[in-house]
Amino acid sequence: MNRRDFIKTAGVVTLGLMLDGQSFVEARRSLDMKISAVKLFDGGFMMKTFACGGGLPAGAIAEQKLRSSLQNYVIDTGDEIILVDTGMPAETEFPVTKDSVITFGDKIANYVDALRAAGYAPEKVSKILVTHKHPDHTGELRAFPHAKIFLSRIEADDMGLTGDNVVRVDFTDGAYKNFPACQKIADGIFYIFAPGHTKGNSIVVVEAGDKFYMIHGDVTYTDEALLENKLSVANEDMTAARDTLNKVRAFIKENRTVYLSTHTPLGYESLDAEKIMVLPDVDEAPAAETQSDAQEQVSGTVWVCSVCGYEHVGDAPPEVCPRCKQPSTVFTRK
Ligand SMILES: [Zn+2]
Ligand SMILES: [Zn+2]
Repeated sequence: MNRRDFIKTAGVVTLGLMLDGQSFVEARRSLDMKISAVKLFDGGFMMKTFACGGGLPAGAIAEQKLRSSLQNYVIDTGDEIILVDTGMPAETEFPVTKDSVITFGDKIANYVDALRAAGYAPEKVSKILVTHKHPDHTGELRAFPHAKIFLSRIEADDMGLTGDNVVRVDFTDGAYKNFPACQKIADGIFYIFAPGHTKGNSIVVVEAGDKFYMIHGDVTYTDEALLENKLSVANEDMTAARDTLNKVRAFIKENRTVYLSTHTPLGYESLDAEKIMVLPDVDEAPAAETQSDAQEQVSGTVWVCSVCGYEHVGDAPPEVCPRCKQPSTVFTRK
């Protein structure tokens, strides 16, 4: 190539970038995008019957202890700091009993301190995306009075949230890939309706570089459930949960996805390793999977299990959560 041809070619490349300025900016932004784990608890366990038992009959899943933890995630777009969930209320204690089916392990830090440890000052947070209403995902929303809190209208109404900073999301931006309803939050950040675990449950997908980071809340409690195509026992709507798990699995098969879980160290390990999730070919859902525990519909004080989201109505919380077997101390008033 002579000098004149070189200049001509270089000019075309530059012009191409300028003509396509929008995608150039987006490409730069997506390379700046950084996701970090906000680590709250580690070294716990969950029983496989809890994480993978769904509506299956007793004995269908072999009893086995799987690793457990609790972490949420923070997205740094280069322009703003966006949280996905805000951990447990700082004051909640988790005693381990002989019947515990899930524990989070030892506390690393309260949410706000854990966020600082991840490198972010709480006052810099501009938005919070809430996957669902459970206390281990909404515990410290109160610590961010100046951030915009996005959550599905169903969850916001269910929690009775008020305040000018609460954005009730109706998912009006149409489909995202194979999910029918999403809301675009920022360039490359999508808040997606994915009901089942709770009726207004949502997930977050972050596009960065050539990868998709799926921050899914509690669609599965552990990655083993995703790999084996099994639901947990803790779903408000088992039919919707099955549909969501099917969609999550179909998405992962089609897109290079890093699967970021809340309740297993596999979540932050996958993030650290930038591990692309590869699913074995288990497409059949378990045949006997049905709604296992329809919850009582009576009026009175509602108590919510901080571990599995079980709701109990009465003057006092139950002595033991009928679903996850935690003691009454983990129940909070709704
Ligand atoms: Zn949950
Ligand atoms: Zn959870």
